[in-house]
Amino acid sequence: MAYDFDLYVIGAGSGGVRSARFAAGFGAKVAVAESRYLGGTCVNVGCVPKKLLVYGAHFAEDFEQAAGFGWSLEEANFDWVTLIANKDREINRLNGIYRNLLVNSGVTLHEGHAKLVGPHEVEINGQRYSARHILIATGGWPQIPQIPGHEHAIGSNEAFFLKELPKRILVVGGGYIAVEFAGIFHGLGAQTQLLYRGDLFLRGFDGAVRKHLQEELTKRGLDLQFNADIERIDKQADGSLKATLKDGRELVTDCVFYATGRRPMLDNLGLENTGVKLDKRGFIEVDEQYQTAEPSILAIGDVIGRVQLTPVALAEGMAVARRLFKPEQYRPVDYSLIPTAVFSQPSIGTVGLSEEQAREAGHKVQIFESRFRPMKLTLTECQERTLMKLVVDAETDKVLGCHMVGPDAGEIVQGLAIALKAGATKRDFDETIGVHPTAAEEFVTMRTPVAG
Ligand code: FAD
Ligand code: NDP
Repeated sequence: MAYDFDLYVIGAGSGGVRSARFAAGFGAKVAVAESRYLGGTCVNVGCVPKKLLVYGAHFAEDFEQAAGFGWSLEEANFDWVTLIANKDREINRLNGIYRNLLVNSGVTLHEGHAKLVGPHEVEINGQRYSARHILIATGGWPQIPQIPGHEHAIGSNEAFFLKELPKRILVVGGGYIAVEFAGIFHGLGAQTQLLYRGDLFLRGFDGAVRKHLQEELTKRGLDLQFNADIERIDKQADGSLKATLKDGRELVTDCVFYATGRRPMLDNLGLENTGVKLDKRGFIEVDEQYQTAEPSILAIGDVIGRVQLTPVALAEGMAVARRLFKPEQYRPVDYSLIPTAVFSQPSIGTVGLSEEQAREAGHKVQIFESRFRPMKLTLTECQERTLMKLVVDAETDKVLGCHMVGPDAGEIVQGLAIALKAGATKRDFDETIGVHPTAAEEFVTMRTPVAG
C-alpha cells in the first residue's frame, strides 16, 4: 500500500524534531505535526527559558560580591517585565530556527492538533494522512494535585509568563523544577518558601548532595519547609492566597506554584483508535526499540516516562530514525551514566551512582569528599561552600559516581561523564593533572577516603 508519508511524527519537541530531521536526512518522506510551539517544552517552557531566568537571578549575588573586588554600585533594581520580554524575544528567535531546521531538511510541517484515527492514519486540521510509521513524541504536562482551591495555583507553564514578580511565593514540590524555581524567585527578590512533603528534597540524589544543598539554600535565606503539604488553598478578599497545611498551619502568599511532576500528554490523541497500551503509571508502553503494542506506532521522550531530559529525548529520536531508515547505523540508547544538573543556586551536577545506590547494588565502596570555600568568594562576605564527592568501587577501583554542589557543577560534570563512560578508575583520576587554579581540579586531588 502507498502511504502519504514514511514517518508521521506527532510533536515537534526535542525528540520529535530530532527524529523527523534525521529520518528525512536518511531519505524518508516525513511530516511532523505541532499543536502549540516549535521546539516543544525545552525551548518554550523548559530548559531554555528556565536557564535564562537562572542567569537573571544570579545577578543578585554577583552585585553583592562585586563589592569585595572594589566595585561599588548604586542600589541595583530588577525589572521582571524586561526579563520576561527579552526571554520571549529569544524564544521567538529559537522557534524560527526550529522552523528552518525542519523545512530545510525537507520535513513537511503541519501546524495543528494531530489525532490518531487508526494504526496508520492521523487527522489534523480536518485532513487525514496515512503513514507507514507513526511516532508519538507529545511530551508531558505539569501535574497539579486536585486539592480544594487547586485552580488558584500555577504550574511551570504559567510561571514563565507571570505579569509581575510575586512579592511572596510558595513553591510546592521537591524535584528539579521546585528547587530551580525556588532559587529563581528567591534570587529575583520574591519572599520564597519551598514546601516539600518528605523529610528532605531531591529524592534519588546522593544524600550528601541533598543535605549540602539544604544547608546552602538555608544560608541564603530561602525558607525550606519539609514534611509540609497543602490541604487547601483559599483566595482572600485582598487577592492574596491562604494555604492551609495538613498540620493545620496557615500560610498567606501571593502565588502558589506547584512543581509536583509531569503526566504524559495524551489529550485527545486518539489512542483508543489504535492498539497502543499504557504502563501502570499511565505513560505509553514501549519495548526496547520504542515500539508500542501497535506495530506501526512508536513513542519516545517524556511521553514514555523513562528519563525526562532533553538529551535523552534527542538520543531516543535519533535511535528511532536510524532503526527505521538507516538500520546499519542503529545503536540502542545507553541509559547508564546519564549526567544531569539541577540549576539551583548553587547548582548540582551528578553522574553515576549515589553512595546509597552503590551500597544497595552491593558494591563495597570508598567515598572521597571535599568541601571548600570557592576561591572567588574569598574576597567576599559570602560563606557558601562547594561539595565534591566521588563514589568508588573498593574492589575494582572504578569510579561509580561523581557528585558536586557548587558553581558550574553541570559544566564540570559533563566532562567527568566521559571519563566514567570510558570506565575510569580512581587511579586514572589521581594520575590526571589538575587545571590550576580551578574548583574542578579538586576532583583529581582527593586522596584520603572519608568512608569505606
Ligand atoms: P516535548 O519537548 O514536550 O515536545 C512535545 C511536543 O508535542 C510539544 O511541542 C507539544 O505541543 C506537542 N504536542 C503534544 N500533543 C500534540 C498533538 N496531539 N498534536 C500535535 N502536537 C502535539 N531537561 C533537561 O535536559 N535540562 C533542563 O534543564 C530541563 N529543564 C526543564 C525545565 C522545565 C520547567 C521543564 C518543564 C522541563 C525541563 N526539562 C529539562 C525536561 C525537558 O524539557 C523534556 O524532557 C523534553 O522537552 C522532552 O522532549 P519531548 O520531545 O519528549 O517532548
Ligand atoms: P520531579 O519528578 O523531579 O519531582 C516531583 C516532586 O513533586 C517530588 O519532590 C515529589 O515528591 C513531589 N510530589 C509529587 N506528587 C506530589 C503531590 N501530590 N503532593 C506533593 N508533592 C508531590 O518533577 P518536576 O515537576 O520537578 O520535573 C519533571 C521532570 O522534568 C524532572 O523529573 C526532570 O526529569 C525534568 N526536569 C529536568 C531539569 C533539569 O535537567 N535541570 C529541570 C526541570 C525538569 P516525592 O519525591 O516525595 O515523590
